[in-house]
Amino acid sequence: ESVEQMIDRLCAKIPDYPEPGVLFRDLTPLFADGPGFKRTVEALADAFDGQFDCVAGVEARGFILAGAIANVAGCGVLPVRKEGKLPRETFKQSYQLEYGSATLEVHTDDLPRGSRVLVVDDLLATGGTLEATGHLLHRAGLHIAGFGLVMELTDLRGRAKLGGHRVRALYRV
Ligand code: IMP
Repeated sequence: ESVEQMIDRLCAKIPDYPEPGVLFRDLTPLFADGPGFKRTVEALADAFDGQFDCVAGVEARGFILAGAIANVAGCGVLPVRKEGKLPRETFKQSYQLEYGSATLEVHTDDLPRGSRVLVVDDLLATGGTLEATGHLLHRAGLHIAGFGLVMELTDLRGRAKLGGHRVRALYRV
């Protein structure tokens, strides 16, 4: 079984969640499956072939992936958190959601400037979350090694927001 087939088999599809007309893709069964999670983590690490110094995960599902990928690659992790969670000086970036807005934060000095950071999350939809993350890393003087996703919803064209950086999604739908 290929990693794509595993992702397809272990992704739960929930109609009309969180609102009518939306088909929500839930990857928690993939994360809960030992071989499925291991293959997913290894495939994301391989896709960037060691060309990064740290892995940034976006709260909260990105954290699950970031720690595991960093461990495989032998590097560290950088938490990109929702507003109000980090205790020291941060950069903040707000972005639009379908209804309202959200803010992400990163510490200004967790990593040396110029570090190459791989950014990971479970799913790319409109791209707003990762676009905001990219702005934060840029402001912290970090180099974006690329964006790694388990799944990409291609119709929403989120890739176009990611400024020509390397984007690798294990499963595109
Ligand atoms: P974006 O900012 O529109 O690209 O949305 C991506 C963020 O929303 C990610 O952090 C995803 O975890 C979450 N998200 C959006 N749509 C879905 C979905 O269908 N399944 C799981 N997560 C989703």
